[in-house]
Amino acid sequence: MIKVIKIGGSIQKDEKDYELIADKISKYSDENRTLIVTSAIKGVTDQLTSVINETDKAVDKVTEIYDKHIKLLSKLVDGIEFEKAFRDISRLVDELYRIAWSIRVLDEATPRVKDYILSFGERLAVILLSSFLRTRKFSVNNLIEPPIVTDENYSEANVLLEDSKELLSKKLEESQQKIVVLPGFIGKSKNNRYTTIGRGGSDYTATLIGKLVDAKEVRLVTEVPGIMTADPRKISNSVTIQRLSLEEAIELSQLGAKKLHPRTFDPLFDANMKVIIEGLYEEGCTIIEGLCTSKDGLKGITTKEGLSLITIESTRIVGKIGSASTITSEAKNANVNIIALSQPASETTIQFVVDQKDQKKFVERLSQLSGLIKNIELSEVGAVSIVGCGLRNKEISSKVLSKASSYNPIFVSRGLKGVSITFIVDKKELDSISKELHEVVVNWSIN
Ligand code: ASP
Ligand code: MG
Repeated sequence: MIKVIKIGGSIQKDEKDYELIADKISKYSDENRTLIVTSAIKGVTDQLTSVINETDKAVDKVTEIYDKHIKLLSKLVDGIEFEKAFRDISRLVDELYRIAWSIRVLDEATPRVKDYILSFGERLAVILLSSFLRTRKFSVNNLIEPPIVTDENYSEANVLLEDSKELLSKKLEESQQKIVVLPGFIGKSKNNRYTTIGRGGSDYTATLIGKLVDAKEVRLVTEVPGIMTADPRKISNSVTIQRLSLEEAIELSQLGAKKLHPRTFDPLFDANMKVIIEGLYEEGCTIIEGLCTSKDGLKGITTKEGLSLITIESTRIVGKIGSASTITSEAKNANVNIIALSQPASETTIQFVVDQKDQKKFVERLSQLSGLIKNIELSEVGAVSIVGCGLRNKEISSKVLSKASSYNPIFVSRGLKGVSITFIVDKKELDSISKELHEVVVNWSIN
């Protein structure tokens, strides 16, 4: 049975990290094959982004990236292994220098070139990690080129499953060793162009590869030991959640409990596979497996601060087809993300929650709709969300609703398959409602 282990970028920064990574890999790899998916090492994807955005400094940024990798390599590896990896890294960085020079001259980078530039982060990380593991006497091959085939929707490319399956199995057949290190986040189109699948995409690469090779488990090794019942900086008695269903994992990660690519769990829906999120530095993990069951109670809460509520009142929007879409398109025109929204059946009011930094530009646009909107009110709010399949159970959801009702939430909305409820509350009440709802989670965390 093939295993998949993903090593995050934030846990690849110094020798100590790599020692712990070697321990993890020897703990989990057995006589079977282990595929190791790596992200770019800490900070490199951001550095590559600045190669693209600050074209005048592009060449200097490449030098920084080069130095970072060589410095780390020289701490991790020596002898012939060092020479080989040094050559591989230098060859890739030469190519990157050539692109940096050209975008510096042209002062622009197309979406295709951007993905090409971003692809270097993961490819360099593959060289570094595989040569380190070889010096630690693991039998390792690497695939510097991504074995994932995508379309050419740059920066958010879609994976072509059948083609990827074919390419991956061919590459795995060719590589002799038990452990194979390969890049997350990046793919190649049929025309051989580099693509990326969205920031934070390596987790998604790992689950996808797990599905393509029929793995039973995929481990995502990160900084934190799993997903917690609440942010421990805000709620002192929060603990690691032991099990999450897929629906719960999607809701919690999208609400911010753990930053994961939105498609990370897609490959699990029709596969017999589990995902384990575990820490490199501390014991503890969260297992994500299967759909909601009747045993799933409440799992956790998340909070969002610094939000702004925009309340639009007008009798002119009542029964007027297209008024809601006119209003929401102003959010789009102002490039503003709507975090939550609500409209009562009387249609006299529409409320939006947006990030505070977006409020001004949205309201400026809305003020131009004077024929439609009479009054706009603004206030500072927060959002608290509670997640768990148990919310579909009347007894449990009534406990949650009655606890929240004492705070008179401004509005309430439900998430995916009813496994989350979000309350929008006055900014001043966010801390206390969060603490109280976390207590409800603790009492109903049957599992
Ligand atoms: N290196 C990419 C990023 O920083 C992908 C990943 O880390 O998952 O977004
Ligand atoms: Mg990352």
